Amino acid sequence: MGFSTIAIHAGNEPDIATGAVSVPIYQTSTYAQDALGKHKGYEYARTQNPTRAALEKNIAALENAKFGYAFASGMSAIDAVLKLVKAGEHVILGDNTYGGTYRLFNRILSNYGVEFDLADTTDAANLESAFRPNTKMVFVETPTNPVMTVTDLQAVSDLAHGRGATVVCDNTFMSPYFQQPINFGVDIVVHSTTKYLNGHSDSVGGFVALNDETDAEWIKFVQNGIGAILSPFDSFLVLRGTKTLAVRMEAHDKNGRIVANFLAEHPGVKKVYYPGLVSHPQHELAKRQQTGFGGMVAFETGSLDNAKKVLEGVKLCTLGESLGGVESLISHPATMTHASVPAETREKLGITDGLVRISVGIEDVEDIIEDLDQALS
Ligand SMILES: *Cc1c(COP(=O)(O)O)cnc(C)c1O
Repeated sequence: MGFSTIAIHAGNEPDIATGAVSVPIYQTSTYAQDALGKHKGYEYARTQNPTRAALEKNIAALENAKFGYAFASGMSAIDAVLKLVKAGEHVILGDNTYGGTYRLFNRILSNYGVEFDLADTTDAANLESAFRPNTKMVFVETPTNPVMTVTDLQAVSDLAHGRGATVVCDNTFMSPYFQQPINFGVDIVVHSTTKYLNGHSDSVGGFVALNDETDAEWIKFVQNGIGAILSPFDSFLVLRGTKTLAVRMEAHDKNGRIVANFLAEHPGVKKVYYPGLVSHPQHELAKRQQTGFGGMVAFETGSLDNAKKVLEGVKLCTLGESLGGVESLISHPATMTHASVPAETREKLGITDGLVRISVGIEDVEDIIEDLDQALS
């Protein structure tokens, strides 16, 4: 079956009780039991909810995974995956992940004895030297936020599996429409559904998809045991969002390419970060691993002052954090999403004070270009 057919139908069977074509929002905390120890598979809504179950089936299918679990946020999904790691075990973390992921390791998990090292996962030799005897997991994001470096998922998986480590990929930027990490040997896929999967900037959520039954049992146990579940209403919203994921991603990709090319030729722009540009150092890898390049574009304006002029000069693009919604959003990674990353690490990664990131929306692209053009001049 094709991607859109799965997106529209997986988990979306008509409601058994009424025939409702759209999965109802089961806004309930508990369920009536027929007799002592006899129920319909639903006991308490932290543990099971039919709206959430529909979404879990849906996104798991889109990621080509057997199991899927929906969480209250992308961060709680990532935290649940890290509960597979125990004190004294070691994780290799890509050196350019989402700022909140770095903060989770650096400020929270480190208090519980989880060891970690940052590594440039785009360089196999560098990654290889980061392994330790107690390395349990390799956590990567590709393309990375915000400078769009691409990691070879098959190469990382082969390397990690040879050393008995689990590979996790944050697939938020591509969504399963453009990249299915499991097809490249990745063990666990995580998402912030807040972004492209929901796609309308009106819900915060997260997702974990995987095939290993033992790890899946543990993630499910953690989901219930800690309780950072996605609400029925948010589950409904994301389920509605994924039905149009294919058409939205096609539109983001089309606009993203046009905006990246426009910026690349603009005299006020020093550098553009977009894997779809032939000038991107990993353009060939991106073409092999992704079926599109998406709508995330970052560009260097040269200084904080220049960045400020662009960020405050735009009229159509909204200045704000987050990404992946139908509307174009513009942000300043150094002071917004990546403020928790130390200044010297930021500088090393290219997250300068002059860097501006755009989540290119699906408005008419001429209008986006016109807006950026007037803000840049
Ligand atoms: C937003 C984001 C997260 C965190 O997700 P929340 O839903 O905000 O908790 C994690 N990874 C990436 C790549 C993100 O963009």
